[in-house]
Amino acid sequence: KAKGAGRNTATFFDPAMAEEMLERHEIEVDLRQATSEGALELYYQPIIDLRTQEIVTREALMRWRHPTRGMVPPGVFIPIAEQSGLIAGMGDWAIRQACRDAAKWPGGIGVSVNISPLQFREPGRIVETVKNALLLAHLAPGRLTLEVTESLLIEDNKTTLEVINELRAIGVKFALDDFGTGYSSLAYLSTYPFSQVKIDQSFSRDVNSDEASKAVIEAVCQLARRLSMNVVVEGIETEAQRMAVQLLGAQRAQGYLFGRPQPVSEFSKGDEPRKIA
Ligand code: C2E
Ligand code: MG
Ligand code: MG
Ligand code: MG
Repeated sequence: KAKGAGRNTATFFDPAMAEEMLERHEIEVDLRQATSEGALELYYQPIIDLRTQEIVTREALMRWRHPTRGMVPPGVFIPIAEQSGLIAGMGDWAIRQACRDAAKWPGGIGVSVNISPLQFREPGRIVETVKNALLLAHLAPGRLTLEVTESLLIEDNKTTLEVINELRAIGVKFALDDFGTGYSSLAYLSTYPFSQVKIDQSFSRDVNSDEASKAVIEAVCQLARRLSMNVVVEGIETEAQRMAVQLLGAQRAQGYLFGRPQPVSEFSKGDEPRKIA
């Protein structure tokens, strides 16, 4: 038993915690190797226009196939990447790869890339990375959307808004991801120039049984329309959910009903934007 710094605190050796720390460390070592070997992949999941049923954007979702653990979910490796500093290089790579991939897609289909708040800590770097990626890929800036979460905006950093405005000035779009999960200050929607708000999947899950979820989706759709923003409802898995969110005013949706995240090699061979239904 070890005495802590405070007078009445004592810390105990916790085998479970020690094992977890060891595992995190192991994952970090392997992740470092994976990034240097180019072993990360981007999968893409479609975002659908509910009226036309066409793909408007594909969201890039990072995948890591570990040699012995199999697919490690981003919910596990992204936090480790953030704590270890690896996220900067991984984030740069994701932006470049997504732009290269999207440049080959027909019909002006856009691409969206998730950005960690830590990537905004090096404002010059992310701006340069995005500009270079667009130039190298010959991708029109308007086809790139960067997805950020409230956790970035809570920091209320002046440079965050500057970075967003600098990239907006060349045509890059921004989306507020997972809306409704954090503090969800409505002020974020008017303070920052988002072109899109993504309502978290927890609201679509029980949209047909829970009046509160319904009310939130409807209110956010109305607000977004007034602010000239698009709404994407995440996590649509059933036809009933699709119908419900469309009736509540959502223009766009994403979820297993329309398509799971998949590698580029699995996309349909057709060169035209494909009707989903
Ligand atoms: P997100 O950006 O909110 O992405 C949506 C997540 O919901 C994805 O999980 C997707 O596979 C999942 N999803 C989509 N449709 C459905 C559905 O109908 N039902 C259910 N149950 N889930 C659905 P994924 O790929 O595991 O990613 C989890 C999170 O990891 C992402 O949430 C994002 O925050 C983060 N992430 C993924 N790729 C990157 C990346 O390249 N960079 C950063 N910084 N974060 C990433
Ligand atoms: Mg996202
Ligand atoms: Mg999301
Ligand atoms: Mg999420």
